Amino acid sequence: MIVVMKSDATPAQIDHMSRHIASLGLSPQVIHGSHQTVIAAIGEESPGMAEALEPGEGVEKVLPIMAPYKRASSELKHERTVVKARGLEVGGVRIAMIAGPCSVESEDQIVTLARRLKALGATGLRGGAFKPRTSPYSFQGHKEQGLKMLATARAETGLAIVTEVMAPEHVPMVAEYADVLQIGARNMQNYQLLQAVGDSGKPALLKRGMSATMDEFLLAAEYILDRGNPNVMLCERGIRTFEDHTRFTLPLATIPFLNEKSHLPVVVDPSHGTGKSRLVPAMAKAAIAAGADALILEVHEDPEHAVSDGSQTITPAVFKQLMDDCRRVAIAVDRAM
Ligand code: PEP
Ligand code: MN
Repeated sequence: MIVVMKSDATPAQIDHMSRHIASLGLSPQVIHGSHQTVIAAIGEESPGMAEALEPGEGVEKVLPIMAPYKRASSELKHERTVVKARGLEVGGVRIAMIAGPCSVESEDQIVTLARRLKALGATGLRGGAFKPRTSPYSFQGHKEQGLKMLATARAETGLAIVTEVMAPEHVPMVAEYADVLQIGARNMQNYQLLQAVGDSGKPALLKRGMSATMDEFLLAAEYILDRGNPNVMLCERGIRTFEDHTRFTLPLATIPFLNEKSHLPVVVDPSHGTGKSRLVPAMAKAAIAAGADALILEVHEDPEHAVSDGSQTITPAVFKQLMDDCRRVAIAVDRAM
């Protein structure tokens, strides 16, 4: 940490801060500049230290050097994390494609679609059984029945199941059927849910909150990692901005940024990220070009009649073309699909 003193800080204030730094177990090194004095606090930073130093008299600001997240950070773990769930592998050379409907609607729907997606090269099957809907009057999901339908689709195809869990008390039940527990954007800062998913030991797909900063996103991942569960995927799904030509704004710079700051694999959701099915294929290709490890896509046989998110959902025919196009982009950036 660097403690920057005000230009009019007195020697007594500088001395006081040096002793305060030493009392935190860090070694203070005072650097006198021509206008200002800074004190480098050398040693292991821990959470709360900056907050303890900031109110000191004569202090202008405190600059942490290390990231506030530790287990998620590439500062402490250099090798990339590969998350594995059955045949789904996210973080290796091969780009993973997770596809399926927004909501699980019926056993016939999910089994038929899963067969098609598997034949087209999908490696994971998505589908919500517990749905976080903006309106309480919208379809809320088939809940445990929906999980059973997903399990049937897995038995038929072998595809790994990615499905959302919305409440800590549902984690054991959802974990019984799912291969990957999805934590939705609206729950990214539900800390009890994050801890329960951490305790389950199941691979987690953590979606970025729609107004979360990168530090908040990575600290949310830290909650899962801190419970001894290393299998976390970070999913960029778009944020709220002033733009209204898309449902959310999909910031692709997140991908190289996260790849630099963290060893965790990065998943991109161009369906929620755009809200418009016709924009999905281009953003899927762009995400792979920018370094995404996987995509999660909403696909439905008949988007017009999907019970949720039809306007951002592509058909299996579009998915087939998207797979072909993404495969070529993957090769161009030294990946495979
Ligand atoms: C979903 O995947 O269907 C979903 C609700 O996503 P998000 O949490 O990103 O809105
Ligand atoms: Mn959806």
